[in-house]
Amino acid sequence: QATRFDAIVIGAGAAGLMCAMSAGRRGRSVLLIDHAEKAGKKILISGGGRCNFTNLHTAPDRFVSANRHFAISALKRYTQHDFIALVRRHGIAYHEKKLGQLFCDDSARDIVGMLLRECDEAGVRLALETPVTRIARDGLFRVETSRGPFESESLVIATGGLSIPKMGATGFGYRIAEQFGLKVLPTRAGLVPFTFAEADPRNFKDLAGVSCEASVRCGGTAFDEAILFTHRGISGPAILQISSYWRDGDTVEIDMLPGLDAAEHLKRLAAERPKAEVKTVLSEVLPRRLAHRVTPAGLDGRPAGQVREREWSGLAEDLRHWRITPAGTEGYRTAEVTLGGVDTSELSSKTLEARRVPGLFFIGEVVDVTGWLGGYNFQWAWSSGYCAGQFA
Ligand code: FAD
Repeated sequence: QATRFDAIVIGAGAAGLMCAMSAGRRGRSVLLIDHAEKAGKKILISGGGRCNFTNLHTAPDRFVSANRHFAISALKRYTQHDFIALVRRHGIAYHEKKLGQLFCDDSARDIVGMLLRECDEAGVRLALETPVTRIARDGLFRVETSRGPFESESLVIATGGLSIPKMGATGFGYRIAEQFGLKVLPTRAGLVPFTFAEADPRNFKDLAGVSCEASVRCGGTAFDEAILFTHRGISGPAILQISSYWRDGDTVEIDMLPGLDAAEHLKRLAAERPKAEVKTVLSEVLPRRLAHRVTPAGLDGRPAGQVREREWSGLAEDLRHWRITPAGTEGYRTAEVTLGGVDTSELSSKTLEARRVPGLFFIGEVVDVTGWLGGYNFQWAWSSGYCAGQFA
């Protein structure tokens, strides 16, 4: 005999916890299932252990999706300010680090503790270490698990994406969508470092550890933040951001002297230090190792005063439009998020319910909505989780 609930939520991550608590608060009996041994594992490791739980500047244009309007409704119905109010009610201290990014002062454990307390108060039953073996629907949803079968009117899939398989990420949510005939868009790693082929003479191994401010562009999108050279390629916030817009084979353009009239600036520096070598002059605007690396062979060793105007302009142009073609990305092993997923055209933007399967909901990262770096992905989890919780 299956135990019956009004709603079953599978996945006790950010979206699932929020959904379970908001459905529970409506008086619904809710079972929250996860195969992991604890809830909110990704929250715990996020933001370097301090959880960048939302962004003050949350707006629909900070999300990547085949339908860029889909997130508008949920983000409006449960905003960053709603989540901040919840955090405040629980007395959790937080601060803005930069660019609207809000972090816990103390620990990401505060956020998980808050959500678990809310779920507990809302009467949510939590079943951890509970793998789901089969889902069927015959009027009610029937969820078979290692702890026996459960039944419910509503079923919410909140099992996240494919990033960090080591932490238990699975393609479960996509398989369930397909089982019920819903379209799933191809997935790929997002917010992820780029790699270069080992044999590529343009790999940057010798620069590993060097970082600088840059403007990084791919197609029509650009981000102004730091880049960081690594042993395998290139990372840093601006690169992670642009990776969500990058497709195999695309060229990425990096402006290493953003916000400067680069040619004029270099000429002025050269006029001030005519005897200095070109790479020494460049070291005034770029980290030393990078400056040496990008000094063209033809200018290497020449005193700055002997470099012609035209050559400065050419060099400035090269540094402002430095093109790289990554061999690939680090993939799901290190990606913060998964792009693609359950096609939003299958879901109501207001309720997150599958249009063709009443009672079945998809929320959080499993859906084809992916935020920028900076707290946007958790905000999507809170917003979509809350909205589904109002209807599940
Ligand atoms: P998840 O949080 O991944 O939760 C999914 C849950 O489902 C997990 O508990 C998992 O155990 C469970 N599950 C999976 N498969 C099954 C199954 N078959 N059966 C039962 N349960 C299952 N975003 C930010 O906004 N700010 C940050 O600071 C930030 N930092 C990050 C740092 C790292 C290292 C990573 C990897 C991601 C970070 N993100 C951050 C992204 C953010 O963690 C995710 O976007 C967010 O957790 C997605 O929430 P979710 O609930 O959809 O999925």
